[in-house]
Amino acid sequence: MNEFDIIHRFFNRPGSGDGVTLGIGDDAAVVRVPPGYELVLAMDTLIHGVHFPESTAADDIGWKALAVNLSDLAAMGAEPCWATLSLTLPEADESWLQAFADGFFEMADKHRVSLIGGDLCRGPLTVTVQAHGLVPAGQAITRHGAVPGDLIYVTGHLGDAGYALASAVAGSSDYAYFRERLDRPQPRVRTGVALRGIASSAIDLSDGLAGDIRHIMKASYCGAVIEAGRLPLSEPLRSAVDEETGSRLALTSGDDYELCFTVSADQAGTLESRMASIGETVKQVGKITASSDLIFRAADGEQHYSAYSHFG
Ligand code: ADP
Ligand code: MG
Repeated sequence: MNEFDIIHRFFNRPGSGDGVTLGIGDDAAVVRVPPGYELVLAMDTLIHGVHFPESTAADDIGWKALAVNLSDLAAMGAEPCWATLSLTLPEADESWLQAFADGFFEMADKHRVSLIGGDLCRGPLTVTVQAHGLVPAGQAITRHGAVPGDLIYVTGHLGDAGYALASAVAGSSDYAYFRERLDRPQPRVRTGVALRGIASSAIDLSDGLAGDIRHIMKASYCGAVIEAGRLPLSEPLRSAVDEETGSRLALTSGDDYELCFTVSADQAGTLESRMASIGETVKQVGKITASSDLIFRAADGEQHYSAYSHFG
């Protein structure tokens, strides 16, 4: 198989997204940005052995390479439309390529994303995806809009993906659950779009809440208090580890791909009804403060300390 056979056979599929004037096959793709919208672009690279364990199945790599990019778009409040894919492969292994493409297009179809182009090289396994999304002009949600008094929320459950990487997970009866949470993250696209006009800031959680909230603090010139007792832990994680370990995983382990966002207190009711209308659950875990510190307050309310020193 030469380069063109691979592209034709595995990647040139009619996409499920709209707005493609010209897709794969020419020197470049052509897309239509509707009037009144802005284009939102995100790019992430996954390197074999660095961003996913060597044991990761090809279909999961395909899924995750797109999912982590859609998670970035979700954090901006953008609706995903198109993607480009740069694939560096040690060899043209047909069954690997088939599985990779299946996982990639499963994620793409779920969110109506069309693959419109890419590149193919020989070398150590590396997958780069650029995702393209749309947002009504001026409505992208950034990291810099949080103000003191805003409530901090997260979507879903935290810490499951981190636990999937812990050695103890091997003996867990919920091993498949944790592995799925690591290998097949679900980008919170609908939630991100629903947060337009409500969230004052947002970020997606790729490195753990304690680290990622600091990006909002830095960009918004503010501090934060996180309440450990409010961190949303899944039932499998609660049964696998003690409370302290659960909180630590939720705060410091990566790969959750949930959203963290801030909302002013007087918008909390609007947020609740909008989340209820799309059937999503979000949890308030803390508050934005006027200091520059990140405070982690334990559930009993007695211990609190700066996360700068403890989670650096
Ligand atoms: P050139 O090297 O002349 O720029 P390429 O061989 O890189 O052309 O690409 C040919 C066409 O196939 C282009 O439309 C390109 O976007 C597309 N393409 C290349 N690699 C991929 C890939 N991994 N996935 C999807 N489309 C790809
Ligand atoms: Mg090229």
